[in-house]
Amino acid sequence: MTDALKRRTALVTGGSRGIGAAVCRALAEAGAAVAINCRERIGQAEQLAGEICQQGGRAIVVAADVSQREAVVDMIERVTAGLGPIDILVNNAGIAITRGLDDLTEEDFDRTILVNLKSAFLCTQAVLPSMRARKWGRIVNISSGAARGAGSIGPHYNASKAGMEGLTRGYAARLVKDGITVNAVAPSLIETDMMSGQPGLVSRIPLGRFGTAEEVAKAVMLLVDNAYMTGQTIALSGGMAFN
Ligand code: NDP
Repeated sequence: MTDALKRRTALVTGGSRGIGAAVCRALAEAGAAVAINCRERIGQAEQLAGEICQQGGRAIVVAADVSQREAVVDMIERVTAGLGPIDILVNNAGIAITRGLDDLTEEDFDRTILVNLKSAFLCTQAVLPSMRARKWGRIVNISSGAARGAGSIGPHYNASKAGMEGLTRGYAARLVKDGITVNAVAPSLIETDMMSGQPGLVSRIPLGRFGTAEEVAKAVMLLVDNAYMTGQTIALSGGMAFN
């Protein structure tokens, strides 16, 4: 890791636990000040912020439902006031509503698209003016192997993650001249709360185990630390092929 991340400010949505928490730790270790977003597990986020600060880093907690525009705008203002303008945005917040195909509701579909996809649009739009003004930005979107394959959750989730990759390419092409890179990381099966109810899935993974949140964070850091890579998706699948 270069020193380029020192003095940078990062916002990680859904940073209170799982993949987001590992990304927050990795960014803080690289010297960035970190804003940890979560929706309701504020205690967990505060514990993580405390851990980072104890180790000499800088971190704050910004609770907000990132599927709501007003909450996002207010969150970005709080981060900017507390840590300075955002240089690095990791759109990680996500939900996985698991239901049988015939029980899936319109509400499940809408909520999934709002939280997994629209949130990334809202956060990206909100940070763009200051990234553009400073001619520097890194945006990493957490997609999924389910963007390209069926996966285990359902078509609503597939659609949200395929959308995330479209969003990534669409922004990347338009922001390249502003010094802003936009990439995605697509993990398959990672050991977090989201996957805790599905231990049987391990038999599908050629590598014989779930991935770790720290392994996903390493891929995020690779993208954050690279000025020449944009519009790409890095897959972490443990050897799984969905097609
Ligand atoms: P977890 O369920 O462990 O954590 C989800 C995080 O998202 C929490 O911090 C949660 O906050 C936050 N969150 C959920 N909804 C909102 C919201 N509306 N506003 C703000 N924050 C919200 O998930 P993972 O760490 O497993 O997943 C992280 C990302 O990685 C997701 O986008 C997921 O789709 C993706 N992914 C995960 C895989 C896996 O196998 N685990 C595989 C592929 C992709 P709070 O704690 O307050 O509830």
